[in-house]
Amino acid sequence: MQEMLLLGSLRQLDSRITAKRPLDIYIFNVQRLENNEFNSHYEQLLYLERLGFNVEPVKKLCVGIEEAINEIERIGKIRESLSFGTDGAVIKVDNLELREVLGTNFKTPRWAIAYKYPPERKETILKDIVCQVGRTGAITPMAILEPIKLAGSTISKTTLHNEDFIKSKDLKIGDHVIIQKAGDVIPEVVEVVKKKRTGNELNFEMPDVCPVCGAPAIRENGEAIKRCIGIECSARKLRNIVHFASKAGMDIEGLRIFYNRGVS
Ligand SMILES: [Zn+2]
Repeated sequence: MQEMLLLGSLRQLDSRITAKRPLDIYIFNVQRLENNEFNSHYEQLLYLERLGFNVEPVKKLCVGIEEAINEIERIGKIRESLSFGTDGAVIKVDNLELREVLGTNFKTPRWAIAYKYPPERKETILKDIVCQVGRTGAITPMAILEPIKLAGSTISKTTLHNEDFIKSKDLKIGDHVIIQKAGDVIPEVVEVVKKKRTGNELNFEMPDVCPVCGAPAIRENGEAIKRCIGIECSARKLRNIVHFASKAGMDIEGLRIFYNRGVS
């Protein structure tokens, strides 16, 4: 996610926009060094630090796999308090001569491997469920959440897909819910904390009419989704224009910004 944000920032045509972004860089490798006297990757990192580069502060030279596993567990416990989002840790062979011997596969080095942490989960409150109308008239229930920081960003809403999803999770408005980020990107509601129910929670029903135009909303047999059937629906019209201008359609730059930010 952060990498995507970074790439987006660097690809800005107007460098003044890039300059305004609070970008930073962490150096994690010496690619080539004249008169290289290092045989340890860790020594190189300390050297980079001495030169004044930003180097990842959470790093440890471990002896043996036990120590490496312990360190991975330790990072797992503190990663929420780090100043950047992270979904894993990398174990690397420190000895640079050994790295040469181990070599690389088709794509990846044999001397490094990434450990991915399970997705972060947090509890918050499902404050409301509102419905959005899509380009095809599809009505999607959205969870309005008590804002919560999860895996590096603040989550205040997420999709609940359709009414079957809501029923299968037994979601009620006012519930305490556990959310996580799927692939650490898209937030999803995992489950309800039922023991926290007070009895004041409200059932949610999908509307029988489109929340935008008031035309009937129909769920066809075999479909999971309710759709607005109003031909004049302004939500559908807007989304049609957005789709027309999108990259998959006519690729109109000026409208795509609107598409990214507001509508879809
Ligand atoms: Zn409608």
